[in-house]
Amino acid sequence: MQTILNFIGGEFLPPQSGNYLNNYEPATGNIYSKVPDSDERDVALAVVAAKNAFPAWSATSIEVRSEIMLRIAALITERLEQLALAETIDQGKPLWLSKSMDIPRAAQNFHFFGTEILHFASEAHPTTGYLNYTLRSPIGVVGCISPWNLPLYLFTWKIAPAIATGNCVVAKPSELTPMTAFLLAAICKEAGLPAGVLNIVHGLGHEVGTAMSEHRDIHAISFTGGTNTGQKIAKIAAPMFKKLSLELGGKNPNIVFADCNLSDAALTSARAAFTNQGEICLCGSRIFIERSIYSEFKEKFIENVRKFTVGDPLDPATRQGALVSLAHLDKVLSYIQIAKDEGGTIALGGNQINPEGRCANGWFVEPTVIEGLGADCRINQEEIFGPVVSLVPFDTEEEALSMANSTPYGLAAVVWTENLSKAHRVAAKLESGIVWINCWMVRDLRTPFGGVKHSGVGREGGFEALKFFTEPKNVCVKM
Ligand code: NDP
Repeated sequence: MQTILNFIGGEFLPPQSGNYLNNYEPATGNIYSKVPDSDERDVALAVVAAKNAFPAWSATSIEVRSEIMLRIAALITERLEQLALAETIDQGKPLWLSKSMDIPRAAQNFHFFGTEILHFASEAHPTTGYLNYTLRSPIGVVGCISPWNLPLYLFTWKIAPAIATGNCVVAKPSELTPMTAFLLAAICKEAGLPAGVLNIVHGLGHEVGTAMSEHRDIHAISFTGGTNTGQKIAKIAAPMFKKLSLELGGKNPNIVFADCNLSDAALTSARAAFTNQGEICLCGSRIFIERSIYSEFKEKFIENVRKFTVGDPLDPATRQGALVSLAHLDKVLSYIQIAKDEGGTIALGGNQINPEGRCANGWFVEPTVIEGLGADCRINQEEIFGPVVSLVPFDTEEEALSMANSTPYGLAAVVWTENLSKAHRVAAKLESGIVWINCWMVRDLRTPFGGVKHSGVGREGGFEALKFFTEPKNVCVKM
């Protein structure tokens, strides 16, 4: 059984407590590795290592930082097979998905921010007799906390811009999916990232995450995870005036107008609902369909969903893998029960699955399609974050918008229509950080990424991320 270690000051270290947590393979339900059960002592050590590394790292030229980051990107790509397998075993997602999405994107994150930093410029504001310019300095020691659904993808999405801008990082992956972060530590060391620039502390959110939020020498926190956790972090960090970037939950609407390309809409909506077992914050879990095409859409949609074969994530034929934990399986099943209790109809799926063979005790749920519930029901208001989607008919554009905007969330939305004016009009009125028109999850890393309302505060991506991880200073010179 493999034992994961913390990565502090360039060394792999056991937790101060000497205690470890069990790490499960979701597809089998078996314990397959041990994760450090770290606490505030490990966080304190990591902060000291980061503080010690900061003066030299922040003074390193952007060209050198860029070179190291490109080496990290290249090593991730070189080890794609190993990392993808590790991600799949740890998270439960299909291996083809880890290979085609998670790991390539982790490499891309380092490549993107490692080159973007070369183009990051300060503003200058000349006026008669005076010149104002802006200096952007790294913040110092920053904290990065990431979730279990896209483990290496989201972990690197935070770390890469933080170190590109000259900060030193204390990072915590989810204790449910720590393996690829552990493997990344070795890659960073091999690529020549100086000791202490990246420190990884494994453990429980309420221990390690809280210690990071409370630590006075961590000056900024970039967090992705649930809205409730984001609230807890903000409660601790806001009175200390820490800079905060919060990427939180979503309950994303997918609006299908009668004038859409129905085949495209039905196919992509199925992917948008069930990719990664529905465990992507951008998944479209509420599908609003114009009443005149409701039956036709439903039929085509379900036809596509039926192709989402559930089973062993290592089997290339599998389209949907296991849910990340037993607790999450219970949560998803409880929402399916709530849908029934609320008077909903299960149009497809609705059951736990126990595949034959090695995955018989794994945590699998059928792709589940629910209908017959209003937009204000719990199923259509609360984030389930699993393979459960709800179909709701609408009659007018105003009604679709009002239902789409009726949750506390506002992360992403999808609009299906061939009418250009309608597409732009609806996009402008959706309360959402991202709107895709006739597509889903097409990501350009230069664009601002984040949510409104309870889906978050701040934006990641592009220069927004570099701005978050730097402190601007206005300098005014008399000419
Ligand atoms: P959680 O909020 O439970 O956990 C996220 C991270 O925070 C984990 O590393 C977790 O540690 C840690 N954590 C837990 N409690 C605390 C705490 N009190 N203080 C500091 N850190 C803490 O989210 P999940 O991992 O369950 O991820 C799913 C959620 O993430 C969904 O709501 C989803 O919508 C959201 N998400 C948002 C995205 C976005 O970009 N907006 C993208 C992806 C997911 P541990 O797991 O070890 O307990």
